[in-house]
Amino acid sequence: ERRQAYAELRGPSVTADGQRIGLHMNAGLLIELTALEETGADGVGLFRTEFQFMVAETLPRLSAQAAVYKSVLDAAGEKPVIFRTLDLGGDKVAPFAPSTVEANPALGWRAIRMGLDRPGLLRYQLRALILAAAGRPLNVMFPMIAAPWEARAAREMLDRELNHARHAGHEMPSDVRCGIMLETPGMAWALHHAIDTVDFVSVGANDLMQYFYAADRQNTRVSERYDVLAPAALDLLKHVRDLCAEHDTPISVCGEIAAKPLEAAVLIGLGYQSLSMASGNIGPIKKLVSGLDAGKLGTWLASHLQLPVDSLRPLLIEAGEKAGL
Ligand code: PEP
Ligand code: MG
Repeated sequence: ERRQAYAELRGPSVTADGQRIGLHMNAGLLIELTALEETGADGVGLFRTEFQFMVAETLPRLSAQAAVYKSVLDAAGEKPVIFRTLDLGGDKVAPFAPSTVEANPALGWRAIRMGLDRPGLLRYQLRALILAAAGRPLNVMFPMIAAPWEARAAREMLDRELNHARHAGHEMPSDVRCGIMLETPGMAWALHHAIDTVDFVSVGANDLMQYFYAADRQNTRVSERYDVLAPAALDLLKHVRDLCAEHDTPISVCGEIAAKPLEAAVLIGLGYQSLSMASGNIGPIKKLVSGLDAGKLGTWLASHLQLPVDSLRPLLIEAGEKAGL
């Protein structure tokens, strides 16, 4: 019986009203990928590539980078992996990376900003990813894109590396998809100008909410002060999901909120059909999803999003209890 319950939990995630919800895992180390099989995750929605760089004293060679990415793809087998390019700076430091003392690192020279300004590092990484994905699909995602031109510049860099690999006679990835992480409120309101540049969008809700509320995600004095279930924050999440739906552009959420029951339920109610989270949360979220009526939840949200409340949390809890959840 227990084995059957387990097997069910490993199967695809479907809501009570039959909506398929993609549940992917976040990872940053090869060893974590054993959880793909154990949890029945649909794939790796966010592979953070920083770790190899953060533990290295010198820049990892092209072959060493490609070896890690290849091992990750091997471990994932048929399941898709989304590689995020280097997201250094801010809360993530690498010993060899160019470092400057900044008064506000979270608002500073980080992630794609560093990648575009010192393109050597990013080009190298893209080259390693292309080599590693020979004959297989490659999904690349750029962090902290804050303006449409950054999305275009990053994609151009990827295209240039693809051409380079083609001319050099390398075996090419069977398919290449290029996405951006949506992590700043400004980009949410400019997304329609970048939507044709990208193949998918991933909401980095940890950073998006940090910038939305101007509250440092590492400072617990302020990080828990504001609620992501406030109508204003949900409006933003609804806006980007609806825009992507209009353009048939896949969108998912890969911040910590995807792993929290109420928040995940609300995201599904807003129409998100793909979430990515730490592997340990996949089982519990899958169970939650199976009890949700996404349609009803959507109707409930539509009639509550305009309420002048600080958060929908108490109302959601009450509604959930009434529904026997
Ligand atoms: C995020 O910002 O939500 C995210 C998933 O990326 P990280 O936590 O690595 O910044
Ligand atoms: Mg982030």
